[in-house]
Amino acid sequence: MKVLVLNCGSSSIKYQFIDTNEKVALAKGVVERIGMSSAVLSHSRYDGDGIKIVGEILDHTIAIEYVLGVMMSKNHGVIDDKEDIEAIGHRVVHGGETFSDSILITDDVMQVLQDNIELAPLHNPPNIKGIQAVKRLLPDAPQVAVFDTAFHTQMPPKAFLYGIPYELYKKYKIRRYGFHGTSHLFVSRRAAEILGKNIDELKIVTAHLGNGCSMAAVDKGKSVDTTMGFTPLEGLLMGTRSGDLDPSLILYIMGKEGLSLSEANTLLNKHSGLIGISGESSDMREILAAANEGHKRSRYAFEIFAYRVKKYLGSYAAVMGGLDAFVFTGGIGENSPEVRAEVCKDLEFLGIEIDEKRNKNKEEIISKDSSRVPVLRIPTNEELVIAMDTSKIVENKTVKKEEAQPVR
Ligand code: ADP
Repeated sequence: MKVLVLNCGSSSIKYQFIDTNEKVALAKGVVERIGMSSAVLSHSRYDGDGIKIVGEILDHTIAIEYVLGVMMSKNHGVIDDKEDIEAIGHRVVHGGETFSDSILITDDVMQVLQDNIELAPLHNPPNIKGIQAVKRLLPDAPQVAVFDTAFHTQMPPKAFLYGIPYELYKKYKIRRYGFHGTSHLFVSRRAAEILGKNIDELKIVTAHLGNGCSMAAVDKGKSVDTTMGFTPLEGLLMGTRSGDLDPSLILYIMGKEGLSLSEANTLLNKHSGLIGISGESSDMREILAAANEGHKRSRYAFEIFAYRVKKYLGSYAAVMGGLDAFVFTGGIGENSPEVRAEVCKDLEFLGIEIDEKRNKNKEEIISKDSSRVPVLRIPTNEELVIAMDTSKIVENKTVKKEEAQPVR
């Protein structure tokens, strides 16, 4: 099946057009600066052909219209007709407690997504806009929602409840949800494949380190704990997000600096993390460069970043009662030997021995042969998971429809 995968943010849309039989992307790209007169569409095709278009793209519908246009264009396209897009798979950030699996989008599902906006005010509205835009442009194409939270819905209450009055969980659904689920699912399955083992026998810790960062404890293929919480702010240090902190310091800072709720939110989400500590950059490449040149605050940022990953690795090995594999993924996890080496330093007691050369050469397995716990570097592919889920759901629906036909 040919599936268009969309990841709609507030001012950007990332897309991939995937052939699920071949498991390859026929085209991919991104529309950035939606809402501005100088929006940019960057599109590339499987054969390396690429094009950049700059224009006024005022909303998500126009952006997707541009994407369809370039996908059908004579010189850069991959399809002749819109009808060649058999289904659309959307990355939806928050499924709340309702969605533990991907789902075909119906009016009822849309209603629940609307109801969940309060849980993800920044993320779910653009996801909904994307779905509505596709409905306008491709009214007959089935659409599927794949949730970032779904993989974590089987966490036990001891992992997802916070130490606050239980009534608040019941009243406002305040609990740990976890995010990046599609990525943790993909790389944990892939690790089992690479190791030639059954996922049901493995205790795996996965570290998705990108601009947003999270880790998951994956026991027998299920996420039993994860570092992000009620929102994607908790846990690891990130590009601009603080991660874990003492909750009372927020109130203290608000009092001292006279911050409003929204200013405090911005402080923790946009001005903290790597950028907050270093004062230099939210980009790990720049942090590493500055740290290597002796910039003290960038060195702290790098060390805190790696320290937190190490801390959660240890705690997840403890909660699972063992560790069979450790996986790095995401822009930093996949590309930074320095971060991987710092995280894995002095972990021989846990069975982790990094091979310096394999780590530098970006091999799939970066630990020594003697390492009891293999350490892997696996490029994530959330889009492929979304496309595969979409095709599975849409094909099932078609089968069910046929089954529902009266026998003549
Ligand atoms: P997002 O979470 O937005 O999808 P990515 O997964 O692409 O982001 O990760 C972006 C991060 O990856 C940035 O901090 C960037 O500095 C980092 N990164 C990319 N390449 C490298 C590299 N070679 N070395 C260190 N960090 C890198």
